[in-house]
Amino acid sequence: MAKVSSKGPLYRRVLLKMSGEMLAGNQSFGIEPKALRFLSGEIAAACREGVEIAVVPGGGNILRGAQASGKGMDRVTADYIGMLATLINSLNLVDALRQHGIDAEVMNAFSVGDMVDPYRVSRAEAYLRDNKVVILSGGTGNPMLSTDTAAALRARELSCEAVMKGTKVDGVCE
Ligand code: UDP
Repeated sequence: MAKVSSKGPLYRRVLLKMSGEMLAGNQSFGIEPKALRFLSGEIAAACREGVEIAVVPGGGNILRGAQASGKGMDRVTADYIGMLATLINSLNLVDALRQHGIDAEVMNAFSVGDMVDPYRVSRAEAYLRDNKVVILSGGTGNPMLSTDTAAALRARELSCEAVMKGTKVDGVCE
């Protein structure tokens, strides 16, 4: 992932959208430890090159709201479960990054009590300037939307120079 020239990294600050499917690796559900280790290692390498990285994880490896509501679940409830799935992925990512020796912080789009801090632009930017990876869970915090939409939104809010998509499908902005 890290593109580095003799003049340093190509981008100073990037937003990486990582789909749940990537974290599932060869599995059809959940997180494959090998995939988590590999992906967090790539992020760690870019971080060591001085790239400021914000990550928006998806949750499709656990639940997608539209699919669950297609099987009868209330759509808004399903979307909240989907957003919580991104928090589960985020906690796994932060732990994996720390195992690579990289400081990382999770911020959630909506309050989840004492577990992680709620998202604030100013605090996220301060973490990025400190060369911490910022993991933005909870999507936009609103049902009926996707984490691709969250990625585009957060990239603008945090003045990222590029949005990169670690995924197996094209963007879905609802
Ligand atoms: N979601 C939502 N609002 C958001 C972001 C996500 O309701 O702002 C829910 C939605 O149900 C979605 C699920 O969280 O299907 C997981 O996100 P997404 O499908 O984008 O994950 P990915 O396919 O990228 O793994």
